[in-house]
Amino acid sequence: MRKFRRSEQLFKRSQKFLAGGVSSMLRASSRPLPLFFETALGAHLVDVDGNRYLDYALAWGPLILGGSHLAIVRAVQHQLRRSQTLGAQHELEIEVAERICQMVPCADKVAFSNSGSEAVQVALRLVRAATGRRKIVKFEGHYHGWMDNILFGYHPQPPFRSGARPELATGGQLPSAADEVTVLPWNHLEELEACVRERSNEIAAIITEPILCNSSCLMPLPGYLRAMRELATRSGIILIFDEVITGFRVAPGGAQSLLGVVPDLAIFGKAVAGGFPLSVVAGKREIMDLISEKRVIHAGTFNGNPISLAAARATLTVLSARDGAALRSIRRLGERLIEGIRRLAADAEIPLLINGVGSAFHLSFTERTEMRDYRDTLDTDIRARDAFLEAMLQEGVYLLPDGRWYVSASHTVTDVEFTLQAARKALAKVKG
Ligand code: PMP
Repeated sequence: MRKFRRSEQLFKRSQKFLAGGVSSMLRASSRPLPLFFETALGAHLVDVDGNRYLDYALAWGPLILGGSHLAIVRAVQHQLRRSQTLGAQHELEIEVAERICQMVPCADKVAFSNSGSEAVQVALRLVRAATGRRKIVKFEGHYHGWMDNILFGYHPQPPFRSGARPELATGGQLPSAADEVTVLPWNHLEELEACVRERSNEIAAIITEPILCNSSCLMPLPGYLRAMRELATRSGIILIFDEVITGFRVAPGGAQSLLGVVPDLAIFGKAVAGGFPLSVVAGKREIMDLISEKRVIHAGTFNGNPISLAAARATLTVLSARDGAALRSIRRLGERLIEGIRRLAADAEIPLLINGVGSAFHLSFTERTEMRDYRDTLDTDIRARDAFLEAMLQEGVYLLPDGRWYVSASHTVTDVEFTLQAARKALAKVKG
């Protein structure tokens, strides 16, 4: 641990004063310990011990252009000299809202909040007000923020009881919240159809990550989301895509444009402001107008703050330039990584499955050749994964603790080559 001595000292100190020693619980699972960083510039991180890493964590997704991208730094500096926050109207709000409506298929109107968790709350309130129904259908392994009313079925453990009253996820969670949520396995149309058949007039919304980035970056089966769309339409149920990860990452219009299925509402966060706190609910006019008509309350001191919106305008300008060239290039680099790692694993005779798309993918150490749902992700070789992650860290590549990779516009072909060299050595260590 000599390499991380200063991080180790700081982690001891932070545990004295910060509850849990970290500011968001998932960070505590980083191995060999949660590192402390000095800088995140472009595609590179430097930690407090002076170690330099290529960054595929990207702050858990937001840094779509890389760290401190010049376009964002300039925009934010310019805005900072004018106002840091207003709590009042300003033109950037309209500009960014209009830009999102141009880019995202489902977006007639938008509402701004700060975090993904908050925007999910706005969406849940809208769907209940719009339908007069209470129940929300969600899926195993999907994450929609940490609030009481939706923190169900994120990491359920066997035995699975599909559709049963979900288990509470945390101390302090309101038990009655479980009455309003049904958790189903994802990518199983028959289960969803049966659930809707039984209780369609109670269900306000179906909420799904269109690509299951929070559980091994699983892809929807061909036709699954389209069938979900049709089922929702037929039953008067609102379809919500949680695009907090996929939005402004997998395509300029999100997974809905990549996969060609348009929800009624979508939630964005993370990449939309390139690393500043901004989240968005975007959707059909008749639903969003519940806010205009004051039938649904949407509020927040920092909502639409000009710093986040200046960052968002800069980010969206870069992402939409040359017909989305930045995201195409991110995707190609990611695909090079995926192909390269697959080849290296095959050469080393290590069973490895990669799910996802170029801009967001996941490595599982498993004999499985495909994974359909969250349950399929539970029997992977965690020991091999952790050995790989630690070896990559030693080689100068920083990855998220669950084996997920995000690629940014700051990554280059040279970075990919460097990463594949590192992966070759790391896989050799895994093999032992
Ligand atoms: N939805 C999804 C799909 C997410 O991945 C996350 C965060 N990882 C959230 C919602 C919650 O966003 P936030 O952490 O900004 O509250």
